[in-house]
Amino acid sequence: MPSVVSIVKTDGNVEDAVRRAVELAGGIKLNGETVLLKPNLCAAKPSGSGIVTSTEVVSAMVKLVKDLGGEVLVGDLPIAGWDPEETYRVTGMREAVEAAGGTFVDFSKDEAVTIQIPSAKKLKKVKVVKTALTVDAIISLPVLKAHFFTGLTLSIKNLKGLTWQDQRTKIHVLGLHEPVVDLLSAFRQKLIFSLVDGTVGCEAIKPSGPLYGPTEGKPVRLNLIVAGADPVAVDSVTARIAGLDPHSMKILKIASERGLGEIEDIEIRGEDVKPFKLKRRFMDKILQALNVLWTSRTVNPIVHPLAKKIYGPQIESLRAVEKELEKVEPSRIIVDREKCNLCGVCVKACKIGNIAVKGDNLLIGDNCLGCLICVESCPESALSIKVGG
Ligand code: SF4
Ligand code: SF4
Repeated sequence: MPSVVSIVKTDGNVEDAVRRAVELAGGIKLNGETVLLKPNLCAAKPSGSGIVTSTEVVSAMVKLVKDLGGEVLVGDLPIAGWDPEETYRVTGMREAVEAAGGTFVDFSKDEAVTIQIPSAKKLKKVKVVKTALTVDAIISLPVLKAHFFTGLTLSIKNLKGLTWQDQRTKIHVLGLHEPVVDLLSAFRQKLIFSLVDGTVGCEAIKPSGPLYGPTEGKPVRLNLIVAGADPVAVDSVTARIAGLDPHSMKILKIASERGLGEIEDIEIRGEDVKPFKLKRRFMDKILQALNVLWTSRTVNPIVHPLAKKIYGPQIESLRAVEKELEKVEPSRIIVDREKCNLCGVCVKACKIGNIAVKGDNLLIGDNCLGCLICVESCPESALSIKVGG
């Protein structure tokens, strides 16, 4: 039996679109259970920025699950370095959830519980928020956006927000992809549904590479919802919509190989994938075409000089980006002094205390683990990975 995934245009009415997407995907069956809705509240960015799941989508799901007889909790813990309270305030999520009739759970005040994951390949033991263990079911509500390390961050990677903030370094150091799939295996039974908020997505400003993390990017209005019970299938369909081959995304490849969901055997209901190419200005279309060329191994060496002219001297060649992502060595984190406003988010994010603000300078020490949590956390995209020697 193929996995069913629905794609629905919002056409201005997000609540209707969410209900239609759930229904087309086969519905959600509940019997008075307590359900945790897990949006992506990675940073203190407003709803509609494409960085966090929108309050409209979350409110719609709160109402829907309540109508089905479920008790609804909503919670997330931001990226290390970001203050949870500030994140909940700026996203407006707490008020939105309460107005819709749900209960907002402040995960930072929750209890941390260590779980063993017997099926894990890397993340054998991890601390998670207790609420994730006590609820009967979980629904993942990511926003469709680019991620500097995993290409996109969707339903599966969204589960990382269930882990305690001090565990994120470990997850990154262990390679991110496999540990995230380990988390999926731990929660797969409880994860009854995934719904991607594509009302406003977020793309990397540069063609690719590590310079843009999940807390910064260009908002793109897409007006769509992608939903289904199989998170691997939902993320694979969303990846195709975003122009990525799901087989090239390690999280999806590993998850499907481990039998946690389908990449190919998928029945799509609703809209066809093709019409959802990102709407662009004429110049953007040219840049997108160049981007496709840029990411081809054969063509990249030829078009790289042109891409560099359009996007600026900071743009690296495909080989250089691949090389640095394959092999991030310690002490290769560099700071863009013009962008860095010394906010200190990365200082808090680095769990081994390898970053410090001294006077007008941000100092990176020599004990770096290469976990890239600081790069992910920086609200100004001021941190990147050094290329070459
Ligand atoms: S690099 Fe600078 S701007 Fe970025 S998180 Fe660190 S202190 Fe803040
Ligand atoms: S400085 Fe190194 S160890 Fe600290 S968060 Fe950044 S990459 Fe991780």
